[in-house]
Amino acid sequence: MALSPPETTNPGSFSNDQKEYLQGFMAGVIASGQYAYVGTNAAGQLTGAPGAAVTGNLAAPSEENVFGTPLGDLSKPERWKHEQNGLDVWEKLVAHANADKFPDEADTFRFKFHGLFYVAPAQDSFMMRLRIPAGEISSHQLRGIAGLVDEIGNGGADITTRANLQMREMKPRSIVRALTRVQELGLTARGSGADNIRNVTATPTSGFDRDELIDVRPYAHGLHHYILNHRDLYGLPRKFNIAFDSGGSISAAVDTNDIGFFAVRVTEQTLAQTPAPGPQTLSPGIYFRCEVGGITGHKDFARDTGLLLKPSELVPVAAAMVRVFREHGDRTDRKKARLKYLLEKWGGFPKFLEETQKKLAFPLVYAPRGCAEPRKPVLKHGHLGVFKQSQAGLNYVGIGVPVGRMNAKQMRRLADLADHYGTGEIRLTVWQSLIIPNVSDAFAATLARAANSLGFFTEAHTSAGCVIACTGSKGCKYAAADTKGHARATMAHLRKRDPFLDQAVNIHFTGCNHSCAQHYCGDIGAIATKLTDGREGYHVVLGGGMDQEQGIAREIFRGVAADEMPALIEKVLVTYRSRCTAGETFVQW
Ligand code: SF4
Repeated sequence: MALSPPETTNPGSFSNDQKEYLQGFMAGVIASGQYAYVGTNAAGQLTGAPGAAVTGNLAAPSEENVFGTPLGDLSKPERWKHEQNGLDVWEKLVAHANADKFPDEADTFRFKFHGLFYVAPAQDSFMMRLRIPAGEISSHQLRGIAGLVDEIGNGGADITTRANLQMREMKPRSIVRALTRVQELGLTARGSGADNIRNVTATPTSGFDRDELIDVRPYAHGLHHYILNHRDLYGLPRKFNIAFDSGGSISAAVDTNDIGFFAVRVTEQTLAQTPAPGPQTLSPGIYFRCEVGGITGHKDFARDTGLLLKPSELVPVAAAMVRVFREHGDRTDRKKARLKYLLEKWGGFPKFLEETQKKLAFPLVYAPRGCAEPRKPVLKHGHLGVFKQSQAGLNYVGIGVPVGRMNAKQMRRLADLADHYGTGEIRLTVWQSLIIPNVSDAFAATLARAANSLGFFTEAHTSAGCVIACTGSKGCKYAAADTKGHARATMAHLRKRDPFLDQAVNIHFTGCNHSCAQHYCGDIGAIATKLTDGREGYHVVLGGGMDQEQGIAREIFRGVAADEMPALIEKVLVTYRSRCTAGETFVQW
């Protein structure tokens, strides 16, 4: 059947990648007939287009149960979701803004569907989290956010570990203004909290990485917009993370996600060595492996499903998998509600993939890993510093932002730098840093110096380059310690004492077992705890990593007082330096 993009789009305005992914939409996100808006009728004609309203039989929650779970067995947030969909509280938002009033517990949860987090008692105010697919933000948008936080926030914003932005200390009276201002900038906060799909991430150097196999931004943006336009992809059993990796020198940390796609190259040679099994035939080209079930806070990475997907199949497969999770995930116990536990309940991947297949109009193809070239090694700190782009004469400059925190003045200045030395493009990274691309050879060093003079850094360094921290007790009620403050103190101490390692290590401070800073993936990780004497402290884990250094860090020290952390970490680094063999990484040590 010949397929074409929907009439509402102008094919000429899309890149080839984007056209291919739109074809994927058309080719059959859903075959079962449940989701008629992207199916085909008996004559093979499209019955809907991306972005159309949900009109099919969605097996929606009934009066008696939610996807088979009796109402009486639902967890508290599930009951709130059943009583009122968090997407439908706009009038309540307006009413709370008009009355300058904070919401009750149930609406506090529902407001997170709009990216608004009432964070009492840590702060008697709202935090607002955006969605920035692929971490791609323009200078105009960053300047707009700077204006917004100056007027109705605390004058700053944080880069998160999902390459996203959060703004804090907004009063109820400001929330509607904040949401509309964000939308006027071409951004959104819809679904960035509660039980929804988090910011869709992608390799931050997509489109200019000299080693990338494919630019993955079209798929991250495509999925982002697909989610925004499909209500049934909200209100999942729990939050959900999806990432796309270009197969280049910088990773997207896909193995830490519920679903991770990474690009691989299939060649005549790999197919000769490892032919595709069964009747299926594979042509040489770029495909994606698909990993699922990552949740590092629960000490698990995503694992290979055996799937080998065409680029055009990524968005449909992601949507189908999310829908399987939506219908079958646990809605009684929040601790068991992530995808990992559904996979465990089903005894592994086969049933999950079988259910996924039922929602697709094309057959899933399985192939051994050997059918494709192995992924190139990742350049661990290739997001910091000046690097050549695939475009001759151009460079990207990776800029470290200490614990991800920027004030409005710094944001405006960064926007100016991106305009003056680049093309106004900025990429946020999952390492709480950012990248300014498209800087000519003549100006790359100048831009790096300007960034350094703003209080940022452009070098992966033992003491500074790789410290990340979650929000911590200054802004999150779950935190047992001031993670950002303690991370900063550690950076300052190490900078002064400089343990002179020949490689930078990643140090992750996280405030509670939600593990937003992914402490189990750090070379050194710290998870906050309250000491018996009431002081703030940390349990310290060592030897974690991701990608080719994948490993869950092991706990080595328990209950270290926060003010002793800088000296302890220095000692760990000095010991490592004196005992590691040449080239031995922290995870191997
Ligand atoms: Fe809050 Fe815990 Fe996440 Fe830190 S890890 S931001 S304390 S929920």
